[in-house]
Formats: sequence, C-alpha cells, structure tokens
Amino acid sequence: MSDFAIPQIVRHKTTGDFLITRERYQANKWGPAGYRCSPIDNSNTTMGYADDALELPPPRKPGVFDYAMDIVPRAQGALDWEHVEPARLDLTLSNIAACAGWVAYPGIAWVKKPGDGNHKSWARLFLHTSQFGGYTGQAHALVYERGANKYPSHLREAVIDAAVKAVHRRNEPAGNLAAAVLEMESTPYYKREAAMPSAWVVSICKHEVEDQSTASSRMRGWHPARCSKCGINLSVDSSD
Ligand SMILES: [Zn+2]
Repeated sequence: MSDFAIPQIVRHKTTGDFLITRERYQANKWGPAGYRCSPIDNSNTTMGYADDALELPPPRKPGVFDYAMDIVPRAQGALDWEHVEPARLDLTLSNIAACAGWVAYPGIAWVKKPGDGNHKSWARLFLHTSQFGGYTGQAHALVYERGANKYPSHLREAVIDAAVKAVHRRNEPAGNLAAAVLEMESTPYYKREAAMPSAWVVSICKHEVEDQSTASSRMRGWHPARCSKCGINLSVDSSD
C-alpha cells in the first residue's frame, strides 16, 4: 500500500501529472482507499485518487530549487514554506522599488503567518535569485492586511456633513447628500484608505554559506560557495 505524508508531492501514474496529497480517505462501497489531491499549482481544487494510481515523484535534483516543483506549490499555498519570519516593511518596499534582483511571482500568492494556524493570507511574493540564474528557495512576501480599506476620510466627512445639513436645515437641497454619497460610492478601490501590508521572509532553507574559494580564485573575484544544508550553489563572481 502507498503511504504518503500530507501534504506531499506525488505523481499520478497514468498521466504523469504531479499532485499534492491533501487528505486521506478510506475505502467505501464506491471504491478503494486513496488520497484527495490538488494540482501543484492550484490549492483550491482537489480530486480523489486511489492508492494504486499514485507513486512517489522522482527524487529532486540536489543543489537547485525547481520553479514548478518547489516554488509554485508553496506560493500557491498547497505546500507550506519551511520558514516564515518577519521582515522590515520599509527595507522590503525599498528593495522591491529598486528591482534589486528579486523576481515578482506572477499572480496571487498565499502565506501562513506564524500564529495564524491554518489561515492563509493573500500576498505578493518577490523571489530571490542566485547570481547564476537559479532560485534560492527564498522570497520576500508582502502580505495584505485586512481591516481598513475605507473610503477616503474627506469623502466620509462630506457625506456626514451633507446628511447633518439635510436633517437640520429645511432649505438645504437633499441633492447635496445624494451627490456626496455617489461620489463616495464611485471611489475606485485603489484610492481607498487601506491598512499597511506586513513584510515577511519565506524560505525552503535558511542557507548557511560555505565559502569554497581559494586564495587564487579570490584574486580573480571568484567566490564559489554552497549551502551546507541544502547544497544550493551560492557562488558569486564579483569580477574584481
Ligand atoms: Zn540551504
């Protein structure tokens, strides 16, 4: 019998598609026991697969993080990031504005903030890359914080003001109130007052860099390096 962890990447034998196990179900009169699984790029849908239909995926390549197999399932919330730590919002925004080597993940991502249990928050991810073009398995996340998202305060005040006048002054045209309400209701989403987002660093591995350079390679500005935990190539060619 197959015995998979939840969540875990598995392969559907028939189609070769990669899936993520979400829930175990027992055999019943309709069929054998199996797992409810999501596609690796969409945690919102699940489908049942019998144990026999699933197998282990090929072993992951050491030393690199694969976009489709490692990054996408975590960004989509189907797998958890191994580490989620708070980051400074000002520095995070400043790096995003500078486009400093971070690649924006296209579309909505999800981050489970520490202390939020299973609740996933809506986020934008900025993926870190190594100098040699690969993903480092780390990213900065800007998490949308709910709560505010109010109409601009000057419009709220204008509506209250018009309402008060309409009630207390007999000759005040009621149209003033209607106009103020209409203006508030037509305020575009992006002009409303919102809460500040929060910033986080999410990672598959908290890298520990092992410098493998030699005296002569350092003279050429070549600093070969790898992470002693996951083996990823973190070499830097400073060309100095
Ligand atoms: Zn590492």
